[in-house]
Amino acid sequence: MLTLAIQKKGRLNEQSLQLLRESGIHIANGMKHRLKSRSSNFPVEILYLRDDDIAECLANGAADIGIVGENEFLESGFDLRRIQKLGFGKCRLSIAFPKNKPFGSLKNLNGLSIATSYPNILENFLQENGLSASIHRISGSVEITPEIGLADAIFDIISSGSTLVSNGLKEVYTVLHSEAVLLAAKTLPAEKEEILNQLIFRLRSVLKAAVYKYILLNVPNEKIEIICKILPGMKSPTVIPLAEPGWSSLHSVIREDDFWQRIDRLKENGAQGILVLPIEKMII
Ligand code: ATP
Ligand code: MG
Repeated sequence: MLTLAIQKKGRLNEQSLQLLRESGIHIANGMKHRLKSRSSNFPVEILYLRDDDIAECLANGAADIGIVGENEFLESGFDLRRIQKLGFGKCRLSIAFPKNKPFGSLKNLNGLSIATSYPNILENFLQENGLSASIHRISGSVEITPEIGLADAIFDIISSGSTLVSNGLKEVYTVLHSEAVLLAAKTLPAEKEEILNQLIFRLRSVLKAAVYKYILLNVPNEKIEIICKILPGMKSPTVIPLAEPGWSSLHSVIREDDFWQRIDRLKENGAQGILVLPIEKMII
């Protein structure tokens, strides 16, 4: 049995549970206030925690693996394995400065005080850049600190530009792009490592499927060769003759980003009736 810690409630809770569901792992929901639940079809037990506590629980053995924002992981400073980025909970941590004051370059932070809930990440950043600002640690309402004279600048998650603007701030430097990650304790017993590998395989199949699409299109037979080059697919496309002579149906997979770049070339080569469908799982 592997113990997985996820956020109890908040921005990462629902998407963590959804990723597990899409990976075919059933978890009873229902009882709202439960702190622990066990999957009925996969050897994993879920612990519901505050995101601040997840990295520590992995470091001290209370849980084996966890899903948490990279920002929380880096801030915690614990030595854990970062197994996989999960594609949700995306945000950025930036320095913001009063918008009515000129900022210039990072050097202007020297001698100033910066308020943040992420003092460790900020300290590393300042050190790496040879800057000497003082760090004012605060657990919430960071955006208000320059206005009330508690700090000169802030370092925080930028939710929307509008929160900054309404507090008279402007984003001046992005320090970190973060997203939810799967973490694991530094070492696990062999049987837990085996379950973790099965879980990673499932998660990657789901994550890969999310960026690819299944594409079907009708092509004139004389264009099959060139369209196969535009849509090479996993091994090669499937080509099936249509009832109408001279035409075939071609099936392939394509990254969604690539689709928009290649659509014009498909049309130029006579492709018709193009259908693009979601893929649920993808095992290569
Ligand atoms: P907890 O009660 O578990 O301590 P929290 O209030 O610290 O929750 P949330 O606001 O739920 O945390 O955010 C969890 C994570 O979601 C953040 O640490 C960050 O990685 C990610 N995230 C994504 N977008 C945002 C955003 N706009 N604002 C804040 N966090 C975000
Ligand atoms: Mg928290």
